[in-house]
Amino acid sequence: MGRIYQEAQEVLIWLGEPQRAPSVNIEQATAGASHAEPNIADGINFLHLLASGEHFHDLPTSPSKSWRLLLEALRVILDAKWFERTWTIQEVVLAKKASIMIGEYRIEWHVVEQAWIQWSHHYNSCCGECNFALPRADMECIHRFASRIIDLINARRRRELGQTLLQPLLKFKAREATDERDKIYGLLGLQSGSAIVDIKPNYKLALEKVFEDFAIELIRSQGWLGPLHLDLTQILALPSWVPDWTYMSSEPADYTSARFTASATYRASEGFIGDFSFSPRHSLKVTGIEVDYIARLSCPYQLKERPAEQLQVVAGWREFLHLDSLAREQYHAGGTMEEAFCSTVFANRFHESSECRPLQLEDIEQWRSHLIATS
Ligand SMILES: [Zn+2]
Ligand SMILES: [Zn+2]
Repeated sequence: MGRIYQEAQEVLIWLGEPQRAPSVNIEQATAGASHAEPNIADGINFLHLLASGEHFHDLPTSPSKSWRLLLEALRVILDAKWFERTWTIQEVVLAKKASIMIGEYRIEWHVVEQAWIQWSHHYNSCCGECNFALPRADMECIHRFASRIIDLINARRRRELGQTLLQPLLKFKAREATDERDKIYGLLGLQSGSAIVDIKPNYKLALEKVFEDFAIELIRSQGWLGPLHLDLTQILALPSWVPDWTYMSSEPADYTSARFTASATYRASEGFIGDFSFSPRHSLKVTGIEVDYIARLSCPYQLKERPAEQLQVVAGWREFLHLDSLAREQYHAGGTMEEAFCSTVFANRFHESSECRPLQLEDIEQWRSHLIATS
């Protein structure tokens, strides 16, 4: 199925006829414009304007059309069921070129994408203040636009770089599928790179079997026990180690995703691949080695939180480990005990704007001077 989208010259995405949902905000529209109906052409023009990269405060909104009406028009587009379905994701992510059609109107996907990129660029630099000045309802509409679009943009980018099936799965878990087997099958085309989960859609299989086969393939293809890092609460009757993709955890998808990405950091046995096998009686058999035991748990250091509290946490850890007397000694995996301590406190990851990379010695030096400056 994915091939059809990938090889098409252009994918036309049909959002259906515009649905006029009863509006809660329309009565708040500015006087004179309160009886005007938002129309799709306005919404599309608004997206073109955002995409053109003008400053937010320079967007030419005519006096007859209030901001609210432009945003209402955008909201009508965003209300389309298309944004809530699983199968539709690949229409955007896989297409060489895609256009959205709603009723008689059409807008190219790259304009929608550009609208979001430009808006977030201005929001984060020159136009932060004019955005903050917007009424709450307007701001909410823009946030809704962002939440509808951003995951699709990212899924498209990540697919170009190589992504495992789990990334889109965690992101789009809340999307609906008439046939719940499509929670998996509908996303198969989004994976790329070396760790492809090789399963073929088979609608003769029971949903439970589809989820179990997927968990098995995930473990086999990636060589580690990924599913065990997920929330394993189940609604369906599944083996305890099989994630139930129909269960909607209250944890936001971004948290799960971040926790999953971070789990790669906590692999004390790196280099040693444990044995695993699956029995016909639905059990997962694992063998491993005991590396060490966990004596105490805490969160990794985060610069964003209050420095005084963070300093306390770090000081507590230093004391717990008697680090002051050991700081210059060699750590068995290389470097000094002090460096190993810092790597652990940072979970060995360093966040720089939106990038995350392994921690380096210079980062530790920088952090040390920051600590000295704030203490
Ligand atoms: Zn600006
Ligand atoms: Zn501005």
